[in-house]
Amino acid sequence: MHADMGSTDLEHYIARAKANNRDISSITGGEGMNRAADGTPYWGPVDNESSRAKAAEKRLAIDQWECISCGTCVEQTDKVFFLPADAKATPIAQDGPMDLIQDAIEACPVTCIHWVTPEDAAQRGLATGEEPDSPRP
Ligand code: SF4
Repeated sequence: MHADMGSTDLEHYIARAKANNRDISSITGGEGMNRAADGTPYWGPVDNESSRAKAAEKRLAIDQWECISCGTCVEQTDKVFFLPADAKATPIAQDGPMDLIQDAIEACPVTCIHWVTPEDAAQRGLATGEEPDSPRP
């Protein structure tokens, strides 16, 4: 359960962490780019794999061949993931609540959500929400 499904506001990160019994001391950054103790940049208040990938200019992508249209990612945050009727999920944003994006990646039952380089996304035909014919809510 998430206190706020999609907000990137610091207050909402803290509220979600409390609602999900997370350690709020893990929220150490602010808006935009931050730098971890090991020197690695990350994006937004929480230092996790997704915020590091975002800072490294990777793209959030879904392998639509693997997606089983279960809707789990959309349940995490509908600000970032969209599941059209009778179709496969796609990202609709490349920025959003990095805690919920990471939750979606870890909750996807077929592990088909990835952070990849733009070149990798193009080569593998992964959906990033930036394709001309991408569905929109
Ligand atoms: S959680 Fe994974 S399998 Fe389910 S709709 Fe989202 S991308 Fe597809």
